[in-house]
Amino acid sequence: MDLRRYIADIPDFPRPGIVFKDITPLFLDRAALRYVVDRFAQLARELRADFVLAAEARGFVLGGAIAAAADAGFVLARKPGKLPRETESVEYQLEYGVDALEMHADALAGGARVLVHDDLLATGGTASALCELVERKGAEVVACAFVIELAFLGGRARLAGRRVESLVVFD
Ligand code: 5GP
Repeated sequence: MDLRRYIADIPDFPRPGIVFKDITPLFLDRAALRYVVDRFAQLARELRADFVLAAEARGFVLGGAIAAAADAGFVLARKPGKLPRETESVEYQLEYGVDALEMHADALAGGARVLVHDDLLATGGTASALCELVERKGAEVVACAFVIELAFLGGRARLAGRRVESLVVFD
């Protein structure tokens, strides 16, 4: 399926000079949504993933659906202060400044097999932070799965050593 027709270019969002890839048309289309969930659920099953880990907010949309379809659990990564129990936290670099993601400290244990998911891979900062949360626990990233990859931003290099799958690549 050609997913490009479900991805809209939005110039100057969220700031002047940035062309934002809007994935919400894909979420609106039942066939496209089903296709993406099935592709990644199949990957998760092939790799015997125990869990899908995704970051709020757009990562949650497909992450939970992929986990349910793959018969895996779902682990939430959230912005600081949102999760109610003890957390494991990782900081990562943004273009200007730093941000952090947290997951519940007891969400993953050593030996767990985890599919990391996000809607889009740009510089790789978010995804490499997610991988760090997994690997700190002695769990394993079996693959990182993205709908969109902005290859010109080099995120794949930051994920070196892990399997990276993306369905639509913009060069
Ligand atoms: P990175 O950390 O790889 O630089 O940026 C990826 C993160 O930023 C993802 O969580 C993604 O949701 C968000 N993001 C950055 N640019 C875009 C974009 O153009 N479209 C969408 N949908 N998300 C983006």
